[in-house]
Amino acid sequence: MKKQVHSKDVKEAALKLLNDRGVTVEDIAEIVYQMQSPYHPELTMEPCIASVQAVLEKREIQHAILVGVELDVLAEQGKLSEPLQTIVATDEGLFGCDETLALGSVFGYGSIAVTTFGYLDKHKIGVIKRLDTKTSGGRVHTFLDDLVASIAANASSRMAHRLRDEQEAADERQNSVLADGASEQAG
Ligand code: MG
Repeated sequence: MKKQVHSKDVKEAALKLLNDRGVTVEDIAEIVYQMQSPYHPELTMEPCIASVQAVLEKREIQHAILVGVELDVLAEQGKLSEPLQTIVATDEGLFGCDETLALGSVFGYGSIAVTTFGYLDKHKIGVIKRLDTKTSGGRVHTFLDDLVASIAANASSRMAHRLRDEQEAADERQNSVLADGASEQAG
């Protein structure tokens, strides 16, 4: 019989890897908050956390985490073949496969995800900055920093669209209450 991987196991493994590598859902939600709070002054951490959790439900993201973090860990242990070992261990600037892997999942979340990912790639903020391989003392996070940027970018975009939907629904309710009030007065 063909061996089959269960979705539950994939999700568990991906979340465990993030945790083992020192990244929490709250860390990523913190970035989402920073990215979206200028547009939504009332924003709290709660919807940011919920959005990160929703993004982490996607199998595509889970698979990217499995691949990227595996390579980081193997490079940290010196177990990759050369020249890949040195490229990943030193976070070689022109490598680009770390960004490409992470970028794969941002297209599904629309243009806000794509532009936020680009911004985070340039301006490393929060946990992304802490994960910088070049300054993290022997730890290799060449892939993980981009994966975190991608999750944060996706969660930001997802939340921006949801907040707009909620706002419009609230406006519609408000309008219908006003219309009801007006027709009662007229009647
Ligand atoms: Mg990187």
